[in-house]
Amino acid sequence: ATDLLEADFYAFQDLLTPAELKKALAVREFMEREVRPIADDYWERAECPVHLFKPYAQLGTIGSGWAETQGEETSAVFRGWVGMETARVDSSFCTFIGVSGGLAMTSIGIGGSAEQRETWLPPMAAGDVIGAFGLTEPLAGSDTAKGLRTTATRTGDTWVLDGAKRWIGNATFADVVVIWAKDTADDQVKGFLVRKGTPGFTATKIERKQSLRIVQNADIVLDGVRVDEADRLQGINSFRDVAKVLRITRDGVSWQALGTMIGAYEAAVAYTKQREQFGNPIASYQLIQDKLATAYGNVTASFAMCVRVAQLQDLGTQKDAHAAMAKAFVTTRMRETVALCREACGGNGITLDHGVARFFADAEAVYTFEGTKDMNQLIVGRAITGHAAFV
Ligand code: FAD
Repeated sequence: ATDLLEADFYAFQDLLTPAELKKALAVREFMEREVRPIADDYWERAECPVHLFKPYAQLGTIGSGWAETQGEETSAVFRGWVGMETARVDSSFCTFIGVSGGLAMTSIGIGGSAEQRETWLPPMAAGDVIGAFGLTEPLAGSDTAKGLRTTATRTGDTWVLDGAKRWIGNATFADVVVIWAKDTADDQVKGFLVRKGTPGFTATKIERKQSLRIVQNADIVLDGVRVDEADRLQGINSFRDVAKVLRITRDGVSWQALGTMIGAYEAAVAYTKQREQFGNPIASYQLIQDKLATAYGNVTASFAMCVRVAQLQDLGTQKDAHAAMAKAFVTTRMRETVALCREACGGNGITLDHGVARFFADAEAVYTFEGTKDMNQLIVGRAITGHAAFV
């Protein structure tokens, strides 16, 4: 294998097939060419380069894993790797792509009928349709499994959705938003494909975010939104089915966290080698090397965890607690790593100009979404003890 990534100290890239490696390199090259030069400015302006969605999709890596979308099947390690390469340059861009290609497409891939999969997945993989995923609500965050207030009421072949959603990425411009709502007849969670422009649906951008500023998150209001039965995800019968989606996408967030810490680590190595104090590069001092070595160890251990959970996914033996443990562990190590890297860059580490500050700020949202550290620890705690400690 080529030297794909210096941060891959234990050479996990050897697990990729030659075709996967080629695609991973193409993603890396795209991110360096198209996204790195603009990321800081878009971040500062809190705008999203939506025009890059289609060119990124042309790399052929969005939503891979669904037979409908790709010529050949790929491994979960490869799919995670692509997210890592994307986040390594910009964690927001990874979220922007991942909300559509991960959350929305996985919902349709797992919960959709054969017809729904055929209708939606190929244009989403091609970058012609952008998706969003609406689960969290103003009053239901960590407790969405029980606490959803948004309702779905069926009359004949039409459903009427009422309620509100919060934090929904891409929702201000998405062509389709997967909305999760409780069926008023049986109190179970169902999934609905709400198309852009449907009357009663409004999405308002959440302003003044200080993390993942490029991602356009929205407050959604659903006021008597009418959806045909044909646009209800036919394979979703309860929150247990939503959990199947999250088990896979949570893996993706671990890879994103890995990419986020690699981005900060690489910037810190470069900076500390060229910055001189007391007559020498600061990289030559023991305390700086300790920070870099700790960061490198965090990256390497996190890599191993991400890789193994992805392999379990392909083996069909991955459980909720596997993904939860990786998400909790890797995001915790990420938070430590971006802070060490920021520290190693001194005052310059807090400006956007030296490549660390953006990762430092973005890590906070990655730590919190798709289940906070606490929630994921409690999922692991339940697996260890048999006791659910959520309430
Ligand atoms: P809360 O649930 O209010 O939690 C607040 C604190 O209380 C946390 O520290 C939490 O761990 C703790 N806590 C809660 N319950 C317990 C308990 N039982 N025991 C111990 N501690 C507890 N959602 C979507 O549906 N779609 C999206 O596209 C999306 N994108 C997002 C993008 C960003 C940038 C962010 C910040 C969030 C996004 N989310 C999205 C929502 C995200 O998943 C939630 O923010 C997350 O699940 C936490 O919910 P909350 O923010 O309501 O926090």
